Amino acid sequence: MHQTGAALVAHRVPKKIHRINPELLSKNAVKVTHTLQQAGFKAYIVGGAVRDLVLGIAPKDFDVATNATPDQVQKCFRRSRLIGRRFQIVHVTFFGKERPEIIEVSTFRAVLESVGEHVAESGRILRDNVWGTHAEDAARRDFTINAMYYDPATETVLDYHGGMNDIGAKTIRMIGDASKRYREDPIRMLRAIRFAAKTGFEIDKGTRQPIAELADLIHDVPSARLFDEILKLLMSGYAWSAIQGLREAGLHHGLLPLLDKVLDAGEGSAFVKQALLNTDERIQTGKSVSPGFLFAALLWPELVKHWDFFQSQGMPKLPALHAAMDETVSQQSNGIVIQRRHEGDMRDIWTMQPRFDKRVGRYPYRLLEIPRFRAGYDFMLLRSSLPSHVGGCPANLAQWWTSFISSSPDEQSELMAQAKEASNTKPEALSSENKSTARRRRKRPSKKTSPNDSGAASPFDSETTPVSQGHRDPKQT
Ligand code: ATP
Ligand code: MG
Repeated sequence: MHQTGAALVAHRVPKKIHRINPELLSKNAVKVTHTLQQAGFKAYIVGGAVRDLVLGIAPKDFDVATNATPDQVQKCFRRSRLIGRRFQIVHVTFFGKERPEIIEVSTFRAVLESVGEHVAESGRILRDNVWGTHAEDAARRDFTINAMYYDPATETVLDYHGGMNDIGAKTIRMIGDASKRYREDPIRMLRAIRFAAKTGFEIDKGTRQPIAELADLIHDVPSARLFDEILKLLMSGYAWSAIQGLREAGLHHGLLPLLDKVLDAGEGSAFVKQALLNTDERIQTGKSVSPGFLFAALLWPELVKHWDFFQSQGMPKLPALHAAMDETVSQQSNGIVIQRRHEGDMRDIWTMQPRFDKRVGRYPYRLLEIPRFRAGYDFMLLRSSLPSHVGGCPANLAQWWTSFISSSPDEQSELMAQAKEASNTKPEALSSENKSTARRRRKRPSKKTSPNDSGAASPFDSETTPVSQGHRDPKQT
């Protein structure tokens, strides 16, 4: 047992020290603590929200901890729902002008003894739905900076484990014996890396050291939970830095097998880096990023490799793309399992990519009508920063689409005419086609795809370019 927490007393940190800006508080979270306190319970804002508030960052969500049981909490709020099997918590929902806000309310929980029916052989906790005191609740949290409680009524922070000091020292420190706490819940290893990336703090030596030895325990964690945590890491706004952290800690193995390969391999790694930095920037500037988009980008270099290969075996472009998608997804299945709906989005984004090259006739309009067009378009923009042999596309293709989507019908016709003319007069300027392929196709117009012996060309070499498409589309002749 690391600490029972029972004897611990919190350090009370006044406003002049913690300097939390009340404007960063969620009014709804304050309503929740106020309502519970009015009903005679203890209630505090807790965890990541307090950490972020002390750091002067607006928290993305607010959790409340209380000594009221879930049933008692539910009685205090009309719009509340009991959720979770592992931990029973109450979601209190508030509908405002913007999207609804959910405040997650959990009852103080105890730390279990590391013996008995709740603990697996490796030390992993299987069930810990046992109510406890406030101090016990603090002791079962992961890092000192995540174990602070804020009472909006008195504007006081209750700090049980020296979280304020560690914030001052810019340190991520596990509460209790790190090795034991990773064994109890190996996901904490990923969390250490995520918070280090997010805060820019150093992981304390004693908290970092056991990770290398225990890294394999991560595979004991149920896949859905692992997926959630990886997704949090990738969508944190600090994904690039977190991935570096995972690699340094030796934690990346087998989590995203294809990502491993890609990160080790030259230009593919440039794309993944670009994709992650781009995602980070979008998230940091408040723009949305879908998990499907993110996985589409992470696995794109691998997809391009398979796509290239299948075409080199003589498979036509589109069947080759579908075969490459299946191959890419199935290779991924050794690591975290990408949930079906995200996989669907990812495939939609991929299958849209060759269609951006078709800039004649009805094709551009049909593409615009696809519900997920925007994601496909954003993905093409991302590709436009890369050379075609690693799955990139020309900058002028991206510019053309950017103009096209914001133009009037007349202007759109003009843009299509320009694209057609450019492709007719300057075959070397074709979006994704190199000269030799264009020449080959002109000589043998009826042959769809020829096997590519060298295997070195891009999957886009046999692309249906504006020229070839122009010949095929009856409206263009
Ligand atoms: P974020 O800003 O990413 O939401 P967070 O710290 O709020 O970070 P959550 O996953 O929302 O992270 O968890 C809320 C709190 O619950 C944490 O701050 C921590 O106190 C506690 N916690 C969450 N996961 C664990 C865990 N695996 N082991 C121990 N405590 C945990
Ligand atoms: Mg949180």
